[in-house]
Amino acid sequence: MPSQQSEPPDDRLARLRGPQPPQPYTARKITALTANPACARRAVLDAAGVDKALLAQQVGYEPRFGQSPFALAREQAFHGLVKWGGYAELIRLLREQLSVPVAEAHVTDLNEVGGNTALHVRERETRRLIAHVASGQDVRLILDRPVLTLEVAGQTAYLEPDAITHRIEGKFHVVLIRSFAAIDGQANPTAVAEAAKQAAVYVLALRRAFDTAGLPTEQISHEFLLVCPKDFSNRPYGRLIDLRQELDALQFQLTRLRRAEDLAAQLPETATLDTTRSTDELSASIEALDASYTPSCLSFCEMARYCRDEADGCASPARLGNGVRNDLPGIDSTRTALDYLDGVAAPGEAETEAADLLRAAARLRRLRRGAA
Ligand code: SF4
Repeated sequence: MPSQQSEPPDDRLARLRGPQPPQPYTARKITALTANPACARRAVLDAAGVDKALLAQQVGYEPRFGQSPFALAREQAFHGLVKWGGYAELIRLLREQLSVPVAEAHVTDLNEVGGNTALHVRERETRRLIAHVASGQDVRLILDRPVLTLEVAGQTAYLEPDAITHRIEGKFHVVLIRSFAAIDGQANPTAVAEAAKQAAVYVLALRRAFDTAGLPTEQISHEFLLVCPKDFSNRPYGRLIDLRQELDALQFQLTRLRRAEDLAAQLPETATLDTTRSTDELSASIEALDASYTPSCLSFCEMARYCRDEADGCASPARLGNGVRNDLPGIDSTRTALDYLDGVAAPGEAETEAADLLRAAARLRRLRRGAA
């Protein structure tokens, strides 16, 4: 379970959210956000810590999205198994599968620091320990549930990878524990790809911790250790997975995110995202935030069904996918595109090229039909 964000977002974002406790950034949220960096709506909702599933519900859209309670319970049980007995299973895995010479099993629990669970306290302790370990002053086998930070849309996100170890090939490795099975050494490629994207978020955050401490980031591996159940048993299995592609993509997408504070500042003073307010107030405020709907939103965003209906209503080309949107630059509605084709309306200068291509495509289609 992610911890509560201890540092509140700035006043405007906090006021938008209202009295509800903020929903913290997670690696899963950040990968979703960077999957659609043009969407101001999601950027503000995440930065304000709004419960998007509840918000969607309040405006009449039951979100069909998220992990099932069954999957969550299974994941928690597998986490418990890997961590049981001071990470006994992970230590066995390091020894047997990754040939790490483990002479001792010093695990540091960073779920709390002297009874204090505040994220900023745990993050400070994580940084201190990493600096000690990286400079060779300390030997720790595993940092359990460390806290790292990353700048996301101008906000500080607190992130909690499952673990970090620095014993594989003498480099720091992020460890992710997932409950999907690896059958004969092969796990579901979609699940592995999603885990890799989330691991990339943690690796970037780890690099930031190194940078802050003035440590060389070459000590951080570009691979992460994925731990999942082996075959049809619950026995942990581990595999190192290369992250270079995910790291490059994530770095690029993070630079494309606009500052959430600036986006929120453009909203009317009366705007609210407080889920206790009326449907009309919420709908008006959501509409005031620019969305960038594409059909892929359905796979990662709780607001997707709301945004899809909105895109339908204004005949947004993106409703039909990125391909159609890219083919109609400057044309914001498929109705307008049809009007250009039918000669009912004339395109402006910026739309002329796209309209000419449309007409050419329509001619080709007619020719093909005639030839058939
Ligand atoms: S579903 Fe809506 S809010 Fe979510 S990313 Fe897509 S356009 Fe943005």
